[in-house]
Amino acid sequence: MNLTTLVAGGGGFLGSHLCTALVEDGHEVICIDNFGSGRRENLAHLEDHPRFMLIEADIREPLGLPAADRVYHLASRASPTDFTEFPVQIALTNTEGTRNLLDYAVKHDARMVYASTSEVYGDPEVHPQPESYTGNVNIRGPRGCYDESKRFGETLTVAYEKRYDIDVRTARIFNTYGPRMRADDGRVVPTFVTQALDGEDLTIYGDGTQTRSFCYVSDMVAGLRALMDQPGLDGEVVNIGRENEITIRTLADRILEHCDTDSDLIFEPLPEDDPERRRPDISKAQKLLNWEPNVSLNEGLRQTISYFGHN
Ligand code: NAD
Ligand code: UDP
Repeated sequence: MNLTTLVAGGGGFLGSHLCTALVEDGHEVICIDNFGSGRRENLAHLEDHPRFMLIEADIREPLGLPAADRVYHLASRASPTDFTEFPVQIALTNTEGTRNLLDYAVKHDARMVYASTSEVYGDPEVHPQPESYTGNVNIRGPRGCYDESKRFGETLTVAYEKRYDIDVRTARIFNTYGPRMRADDGRVVPTFVTQALDGEDLTIYGDGTQTRSFCYVSDMVAGLRALMDQPGLDGEVVNIGRENEITIRTLADRILEHCDTDSDLIFEPLPEDDPERRRPDISKAQKLLNWEPNVSLNEGLRQTISYFGHN
């Protein structure tokens, strides 16, 4: 079946991989992006494709878009360094922007996947985090513009489902990495990889004992697509990520091993509210989506380092 799919935030890291996979599978794809944190070059290979349409626009503004059967809502800056510079833009993208996309989904009777985040769990007191955990977010802290607006975005999807009987599924995405992240994005993998490739010291925040669980981008795209495609998942919320949890210090050591470099490690202050531990409980995704990640950290880092080495 040839479906038309709208990808909001399709010019970004995850969105551009998703657009590529959808076009390759025969979908008509409409991408909307304001290129705030995304880049046109992420989509250069698609721009002349007959099944691909790019619309440069902001989802906070009223959307005059062609109809689609499906909507992936990935539009939002996601790097903690942007939380300082763009807090209002981020908060409104995840609230007003989400409302505009929900109105669009109602109008066109489109199924939607909303990209939420592990940040809705804040600095978690429950470990690993299942979907039932209601989280520990500092609503007034430096990450609040992102964490809390993603939480409200989820609330809005539930309200629209109840009021308008539309089919919205929510993915709580855990740390994902891979090619097409921006070198200056601020997130840990592109930062460490570019530092290592440039022979600079790797900047560990805090003592590096905080943990994350890193998922490679192709696994994430497969998970998001499974959430969209499975019948009967109306209104479900599902963690998507990889369970293998490592410390940031170990991640740095791993990246140094992969790169032929003289770089050392330097330690800088831990940002306020930086979560101490994070690991998804993905049993729900395994059961409902018949999905689990299969790219190892070593393989994913090899691909990512090769990308940054050539760009
Ligand atoms: P990204 O910054 O590369 O992509 C986001 C895209 O959205 C960019 O192209 C940006 O220009 C666009 N955008 C932002 N605000 C917009 C607006 N108001 N109107 C139109 N376009 C707008 O980030 P990413 O890592 O690809 O993240 C994609 C989605 O996944 C985001 O919603 C993010 O919150 C979520 N997410 C990502 C991760 C991760 O580890 N990558 C983790 C959790 C959640
Ligand atoms: N981090 C770090 N050095 C950097 C960038 C990030 O030690 O140069 C740490 C950061 O403090 C956090 C972890 O790496 O503990 C993951 O950070 P990222 O911004 O990638 O994602 P998030 O904090 O949103 O999970």
